[in-house]
Amino acid sequence: MIGQPEVEKELLSRLERKPVRYGEKVVSILETETGVTVATDLGRAVRGKYAIAADGARSTVRSVLNISFTGTKPEMVWMVLDTFIDTDFPVCSEIITFQLNGQSRVSWIPRERGMARFYVLLEGETTQERAENSIREHLAPYRVDFVKTEWFSTFDVRERIASTFVSNQGAGRIILAGDAAHVHSVNGGQGLNTGIADAFALSWRVITAIKCKQLAPGAVLDLIRSYDTERRQVAQGVIDVAARLVRDTVHTAKQYVATIEKNAGYITGKEASSLCVIARF
Ligand SMILES: Cc1cc2nc3c(=O)[nH]c(=O)nc-3n(C[C@H](O)[C@H](O)[C@H](O)COP(=O)(O)OP(=O)(O)OC[C@H]3O[C@@H](n4cnc5c(N)ncnc54)[C@H](O)[C@@H]3O)c2cc1C
Repeated sequence: MIGQPEVEKELLSRLERKPVRYGEKVVSILETETGVTVATDLGRAVRGKYAIAADGARSTVRSVLNISFTGTKPEMVWMVLDTFIDTDFPVCSEIITFQLNGQSRVSWIPRERGMARFYVLLEGETTQERAENSIREHLAPYRVDFVKTEWFSTFDVRERIASTFVSNQGAGRIILAGDAAHVHSVNGGQGLNTGIADAFALSWRVITAIKCKQLAPGAVLDLIRSYDTERRQVAQGVIDVAARLVRDTVHTAKQYVATIEKNAGYITGKEASSLCVIARF
């Protein structure tokens, strides 16, 4: 399992000689037939042939362009902990989903440095203490001591997709990628992975559109528009599978795992032995 900060560090190291600016927000974006101008809160204007809006789930660019971002929202607030535990539980290097009282509300994902990530779903108050107690309950009769918790947070689930990934109803020069274009539950571990696949699908198209002078204008349009066609289908598939999975957490672990087995192509790191289920009925 490679954590997102490691992936981001690696990607950034490849951008060393490119101008990456921090602490400067995009506030508006203007598109013409030949290019795009982005204005920032520091008063700078940046002009390019295309602009890729990878500005996250609350995308400013998507809002400025009035592109709708609709979908569903199950009423679930999850807790997440990155923690070091001391336990006599037989630790393994796989993701484990624990079942208690016929539901699968705790998952354990082994991380780097021997750290454990736990996802916990509870009704009512979301506190670290309640999350830790729930983990203890799910791992019983094994003992669990929380040695050092590096991160505790909560998040709710949103399943949304932008009405178009390319401005001007697919004929434009501003292109949404990553969470700006699609969001879903974390189950399946596909968020960043889908965003990186968006970047791959976009990079060769944009380079071809800019550098291949012999391409007819219609062909350039079709090429950029095909990004929407290709990635929308994938994003919708990811959203649907993650939606099924997150709802399966209030059912048996057998059902949860069956959904994973049926949709392995949408699950990060899924291989024959990559999931254990601990079920106490
Ligand atoms: C608890 C949790 C667990 C997850 N686990 C996984 C996992 O196991 N596998 C996986 O693949 N994904 C996972 N994800 C999802 C993953 O984190 C996201 O899908 C990913 O970070 C999206 O990347 P992004 O670059 O599209 O958006 P973001 O990471 O949101 O980045 C957007 C960037 O744009 C910047 N920005 C925003 N507005 C502006 C503006 N106006 N001007 C300039 N900059 C702006 C922000 O500061 C930010 O740096 C998880 C998410 C959560 C919350």
